[in-house]
Formats: sequence, C-alpha cells, structure tokens
Amino acid sequence: MEDLTDGRWQDEVLVVPADETVSAAAGPSLNDAFARLDPADRLVFLSRSISGPIVFTTSFGLEDQALTHLIAEAGIDCRFATLDTGRLFPETHTVWAATEQRYGIRIQAFYPRAGALEALVHQHGINGFYQSLDARHACCGVRKVEPLDRALAGTAAWLTGLRAGQSGSRQALEFVSYDPVRRLLKVNPLLDWSRDRVAAFVHQANVPYNALHDKGFLSIGCAPCTRAVAPGEPERSGRWWWEQDQTRECGLHLTPDGRLVRTGKPS
Ligand code: SF4
Repeated sequence: MEDLTDGRWQDEVLVVPADETVSAAAGPSLNDAFARLDPADRLVFLSRSISGPIVFTTSFGLEDQALTHLIAEAGIDCRFATLDTGRLFPETHTVWAATEQRYGIRIQAFYPRAGALEALVHQHGINGFYQSLDARHACCGVRKVEPLDRALAGTAAWLTGLRAGQSGSRQALEFVSYDPVRRLLKVNPLLDWSRDRVAAFVHQANVPYNALHDKGFLSIGCAPCTRAVAPGEPERSGRWWWEQDQTRECGLHLTPDGRLVRTGKPS
C-alpha cells in the first residue's frame, strides 16, 4: 500500500469544493492519481481531495461489500446508502443487516415514492417489466433511479463498486468522471480489479457477502430480474436475461440519452 503521509502526494492533493465547475475540472486529475494507487489509498486520497459530502451507494454485491470494508477500515467520512426497491431477495436483506452489525454503520435506505409505485403497478401490473422494455425502464425509474436521485442530492462525490470487467460497456469507464447531470464526481475505486481479485479479498477479510453468490448468482439485483448464470457466462447475463440488448443497465449509471457516464471532462 502506498504511504500517503510521506509527502509524495502532497502536491497532487486537490481541494475540491462542492461546486460543479471545480468538481468537473478535478475529475481528470483525480483519475490520473487513482491510476497509481490501490483501492484503499484511492479512498484516502479522495477523502483528502473532496470538501463536500461523499456518498457510497451499495446493493450488497461482492464489489460493494469489499468497498464497504475498505471504507470502514480506513475510517473514511462517507454516508452509506442503498435503494430498497421492494423486490429484493431476502438474502440481500440478510447481508445488509450483517454488514451494519459487522462495521457498526447504518446504511440509509431509500424507497420508491408510494404514489409513483401505485401508479406504476396499476398501469403495468405487478410484473409488468417482463412485457416490454418501456415497462421495465418505467419500473427501474420508479424503484431505482428516482430514489437514487434523492440519495445523491447535495453530494460532491458518488462512490460505486463498478468494475471495468463487468461488461463490455463498462470497460470504457474511468476511475473518476464528472457526472454533468447529477453535478458530482462519480468514483469507481475498484475499476481495475477482476472479479476473482474481489472475491479473494472478500474471503480473506471475512467480509459478509450475499449467500446467493454461492448459488451461481454473480450480479444480484431485484429478485424477479436476476437469475443464476452457468460457469463461463458473462457476469451480467443473469440480469434482465429475457432482453436482447447486450448493454442492459437499470439506468442508475446512464445519462439521459442512454450512455454510461464515463467522460472525465465537463460537458
Ligand atoms: Fe423493477 Fe426489475 Fe428494475 Fe427491479 S430490476 S426496478 S423489479 S424492472
């Protein structure tokens, strides 16, 4: 692990107020610095570089659990948040509780707006997401995207567990990029880790993890939209498996025109 206290990094530490203009300019600098650090040091570096609130949104997947461990161990001043869509697996709630207990933290839950959810189910039915892409996006919009907007309100930096190896479209991501829609820095400290490396880290550190991972589930989201995958299948092939689009995403990491947020430059 790099020693961040020996002054070598001093010249590169940026003070980034929670101001959209300065944050946008800081993205590429942080991105360059991250490339030379390991994930634990990236978190420390970020916390020293950002003066506004940092939020980590977890869905309790393997990467998120590793990140929770690193954040807690480093004592990073960071708010934990999760989106409880109302359709999660019981195993996800179990690992959520185990994580809070292990690290002595509270993970703030964001729920869908009741009125929007009632209207969604009335229009499309309780499992309407199987019927059309529009209905699926509408469901993700109500259950995930709108609550995420509330979870990130006023945030300077958004920590995620995204990895480049998770899908072809995620290979274009950067460690740090400016999200011009949400006006914050999006930070992916585990971007260059492989799934095997994350799994080894979780097991070595005895981090709580979702029991579904032992049953062939690689990427875990809502229960009706997630299934186990066979050995060798792409990591995210168990998500919305009935859809043909190979770049399937729930909308949390997309721009309004459907692209993954990946540019480090303001736009
Ligand atoms: Fe709805 Fe499925 Fe999206 Fe969950 S993953 S919000 S159940 S469409």
